[in-house]
Order: sequence, then structure tokens, then C-alpha cells
Amino acid sequence: MLSGPSGAGKGTVVKEYARRYSDVFVSISATTRDPREGEKHGVNYFFITDEEFDKMKNENGFLEYADFCEHKYGTPRENAEKALNEGKDVILEIEVQGAFKVKENRPDAVLVFTVPPSYEILRERLIGRGTESMEVIEKRLNRAMEEIKLAPRYDYLIINDTVDKAVEDLRAIFDAEKCKINNNIDFIKEF
Ligand code: 5GP
Repeated sequence: MLSGPSGAGKGTVVKEYARRYSDVFVSISATTRDPREGEKHGVNYFFITDEEFDKMKNENGFLEYADFCEHKYGTPRENAEKALNEGKDVILEIEVQGAFKVKENRPDAVLVFTVPPSYEILRERLIGRGTESMEVIEKRLNRAMEEIKLAPRYDYLIINDTVDKAVEDLRAIFDAEKCKINNNIDFIKEF
């Protein structure tokens, strides 16, 4: 699971990762926030109403869900579980509360926190992308500072300086996890 402040570039890293490495399933979340310019329903998110979100929640349709800056976000259960059962690598790009919930249910899940090289760069990126008002940007920066306090509970940190390096760091994490003894016990027994 990949978390990190809004503006850390998680979306860009995940998109580039999926382009380079096709053996991965990137979960598409549902959200009640409005699409940003260029975002498409079913590609970036499933953009749904509050009522639709609550209905899905009540029907146990989410693997996890959380509130973030006055909007709801959730990971649709069906697609993610299907991909996991097929043995694929699954990436969930979700905020910290949701990530901890998934980790509780799936201790084998790996938590990766992404940050830009500095707070100043984060601020510049958020302002520079021009998709939010200053009021929303301030809220997101406050939330970023809350989230980063929880980063020590994560397994890995990626400092997103360049997309290329961040993608390769993420690949290295997947590779390292696959080599962990705990993930190879069946092989050892069989051998
Ligand atoms: P944004 O509005 O910038 O796309 O996303 C805001 C935050 O919500 C980001 O930290 C993003 O990772 C997180 N997020 C996106 N989808 C989900 C989800 O399905 N569950 C949770 N818990 N967080 C999500």
C-alpha cells in the first residue's frame, strides 16, 4: 500500500510503475469528491455520490474506507480480492487510516510511505498543480503533517525526488518482499 501526503506524486509514481511493470493490479478507489480536470470515471477513481458510497459501505463492498478532507474514499473489495487471489501484486494508493485497517486484516500487506524531498517542495507542488483552492491546499498540508507523524509505523519510505528513481525504489521493495523468508516457507518445506 502506498500512502503519503497529497501532492507527494503517488499517482504519477503508480501510473509509471504500472506502465513499466504489467504484473501489477492498481486498485481504482471510489470517492465522493469531484473529478479534477482531466480525471476520468473508472480510470482515476469511481466518482460516486454520498448515497452510493454509503450503500456500498453497508453492503460490505469496501476493503477499507476513510474520510479525507471532507470527502469519502474507499477501496472496492471485489476487484482487489480477485487480483490477490490470482496471485497478482496489488497496489492500493490510500491514506494512512485505511492503510492501517488493511494491515490489521492482512498482516502480509506492505506499507510504503512516499514524501517529496522537503515540506517546501510539497507546498510548491500542491500550489503548482493548480487543482485546489488555497483553503483546500492548507487543509491538505495540515493533513500531510498529521500523516507524516505516522510514517514510522510504515515498512518503507520512498523520497520522491524523480519519478524514475521512485518507481525503481518501489520495484526494489516488491522484489525484496518476494525474497523474504516468511514469503517462501512453502518453497523451503517442499525443497
Ligand atoms: P486525492 O483527493 O488527492 O485524490 O486523494 C486524497 C487522499 O485520499 C490521498 O491520500 C489518497 O491516497 C487517499 N485515497 C484515495 N483513495 C483511497 C481509498 O480508497 N481509501 C483510502 N483510505 N484513502 C484513499
